[in-house]
Amino acid sequence: MKCFSCGADNQDGAANCQACGAPLNQRPQFNLQKRDIAKAIIFSIITLGIYALYWFVKMNDEVNQSIGNPNDTPGVTALILTIVTCGIYGIYWAYKKGEVVDNYYANKGMPKPNNAVIYLVLCLFGLSIVTYALLQNELNKAAEGAI
Ligand SMILES: [Zn+2]
Repeated sequence: MKCFSCGADNQDGAANCQACGAPLNQRPQFNLQKRDIAKAIIFSIITLGIYALYWFVKMNDEVNQSIGNPNDTPGVTALILTIVTCGIYGIYWAYKKGEVVDNYYANKGMPKPNNAVIYLVLCLFGLSIVTYALLQNELNKAAEGAI
């Protein structure tokens, strides 16, 4: 079976991914809440980006808990790393989270999208807020059970 988090092939019945350590069988039940993307963008603008930081942390943890690896970097750590590296970690973060979404689709037998590359390019052009909107859209779909 393929790992939800990294896409590595693992032996059937294995408890954890050999490549990244993510649990393969007992995925914790996580109550994923839909979030209004337009409101999140407006809040981010009127708070001069402060809401976007909160949004980043929340989405990071929601991706980890629902479609990715629950043991992956916590949101607060990811935020600190992004600040310390003047945003460079945030670009890497966007790529990795896109990869999680892509692997999630692939694991469900759906065509694999190219979110990782799209998120990476958007962040390179300073459009991380668009990345957040796209990632939230995927989380909303997961919350609805649409993916
Ligand atoms: Zn893995």
